[in-house]
Amino acid sequence: MASSARQILERVFGYSSFRGQQEAVIEHAVSGGDSLVLMPTGGGKSLCYQIPALMRSGTAVVVSPLIALMRDQVDALLQAGVRAAYLNSTLSYGEVLDVENRLRTGRIDLLYVAPERLLGDRTLALLGAIDTALFAIDEAHCVSQWGHDFRPEYLELSVLRERFPAVPRMALTATADETTRREIAARLGLTGARWFVSGFDRPNIQYRVAPKAGPRDQLARIIDTEHRGDAGIVYCLSRRSVDETAEWLRGRGVDALAYHAGMNARDREAHQDRFVRGEGVVMVATIAFGMGIDKPDVRFVAHLNLPKSLEAYYQETGRAGRDGLPATAWMAYGLQDVIMLRQMVDGSEAAAERKRLEIRKLDAMLGYCELTTCRRQALLAYFGETLAEPCGNCDNCLDPPESWDATEAARKALSCVYRTGQRFGAGYVVDVLRGKGDERMGRFGHDRLPIFGAGAELDARQWRSVIRQLVARGLLTVDIDGYGSLSLTPAARSVVRGGVTVELRRDALPSPARRKKQAAKAVGAGPPGLFDALRARRRELAQEQGVPPYVIFHDATLAAMAKIRPRTLDEMSELSGVGARKLERYGEIFLRVLREHGAAGAPDNTVVEDSEESTAAS
Ligand code: ADP
Ligand code: ZN
Repeated sequence: MASSARQILERVFGYSSFRGQQEAVIEHAVSGGDSLVLMPTGGGKSLCYQIPALMRSGTAVVVSPLIALMRDQVDALLQAGVRAAYLNSTLSYGEVLDVENRLRTGRIDLLYVAPERLLGDRTLALLGAIDTALFAIDEAHCVSQWGHDFRPEYLELSVLRERFPAVPRMALTATADETTRREIAARLGLTGARWFVSGFDRPNIQYRVAPKAGPRDQLARIIDTEHRGDAGIVYCLSRRSVDETAEWLRGRGVDALAYHAGMNARDREAHQDRFVRGEGVVMVATIAFGMGIDKPDVRFVAHLNLPKSLEAYYQETGRAGRDGLPATAWMAYGLQDVIMLRQMVDGSEAAAERKRLEIRKLDAMLGYCELTTCRRQALLAYFGETLAEPCGNCDNCLDPPESWDATEAARKALSCVYRTGQRFGAGYVVDVLRGKGDERMGRFGHDRLPIFGAGAELDARQWRSVIRQLVARGLLTVDIDGYGSLSLTPAARSVVRGGVTVELRRDALPSPARRKKQAAKAVGAGPPGLFDALRARRRELAQEQGVPPYVIFHDATLAAMAKIRPRTLDEMSELSGVGARKLERYGEIFLRVLREHGAAGAPDNTVVEDSEESTAAS
């Protein structure tokens, strides 16, 4: 059986080896077991059910919450020659009848359905009448009422167990936290299922965090130097900043689009579609965007605001580099973000216990931002994994940050907060420290305090950095009065009294030059222009068929093509991502591009005709 899963992997998908736990998951499902599959985004969850779907008799049913995505997934499978279809509200009645007919006659190996569709009487009855191979429940964390992706229909999926007791079920998610995992198992009635938990590391993603210093300019610099023409996602906190940032980027010649819940559904869909089908579109969005985006070639994810938790951050950044090629996760954050998020948490209607949990998560997020050691080690540790060595692919590893003895500065800042009555925000405190008096300060007599002007040795940016780090370390807290007043925590006492040294991180701006080199080798190996020519051909083919370019070949496959420059179909078939069906359909077409670039040898004699119809893969 193992060899046959492997054969399918090679023949249909064009990959030479399984990743992580894929093979074990497949084996378990093929032999009829239930499972809970936990893999990071980009880990390769789809193959875990797609291959059993081709090995077991009957149709595998994939429950997926996002209608917009089903079509792309089905398109990708059809390209590989797999008999796949979907059932959702976008189909016409005639199309539904056609799919149902093909199901009844055993001509579909993989059926994608939205949960509400699946649970309808008509679909349940139909599935009861045919041979069902497997149920795969994708994005299974949608069943969790605590999570932000909660979908009530998911709760009802437990009926599958009662109605189809003999059909194996597989729940899949990229959610890393333990509580949610247990909730999934309990709510879906998967208590006896085997768990497959994969490592959560995403080594190809370079994690970077920068203190805010004109975040749009910082972002523009990164796009210019490292990611020109690349697809990316930029997360902002508010709808307004989404609109403004998208507009600003467009003004700089970046193909940027906006996405947030305040837009009408049609525009949102159109933008998402352009992002998925386009090649270098930058989506500027609130967190409303992204769940289930399985575009493999997103080269960067940027956060212009601090996410609420490391779980959210990891999920959002995980949308970069699913194809395994180098990708960037960059975040800018500043004191203002901390204040705003604190206020959002405290101002929420949530119960006290829930609030405490949210604050703890926010603190973990802050701790991550202020790290001076390997970020990946810290991230993985947060999710309960150990990385033995520093990763070498995060900003702190690449550019070890300097720290400085900030004991004196910390004492001044704390004492300034205290002397001014713990009623003012950071801006005011910094002005007092720097001796920048105004009318209001005069009124309170703060310009006559000994601390007034006692901090001239640091500039305003440096003082904000000190205050931010004191907040992050829990020496100062930010009040929720709407003004962000700072006050001292009990922990601050030992610093004020003396005897404790405070080491802080020296904020530095990244040096783009070196990173540019790293980024350059990411894609586009081979002779100049060849990769672009291959991409252009792919774009034409994709447009002709109305499918996203990546369902034809991934960037990774084109990059390998440019580098290895196969001369025959046989050599072409060796490339990762070239399965039998794609070789047949596109092999000769791409060999021609290689030849035109003087990159391939004599044409191969094996002429293959394009055939329109998809054939069974198994
Ligand atoms: P997930 O759903 O876990 O986020 P996907 O199933 O979309 O991830 O897979 C991510 C990418 O990795 C896809 O582009 C897929 O084709 C590729 N992939 C998956 N398994 C393998 C493998 N064994 N070898 C090479 N590439 C793989
Ligand atoms: Zn590192």
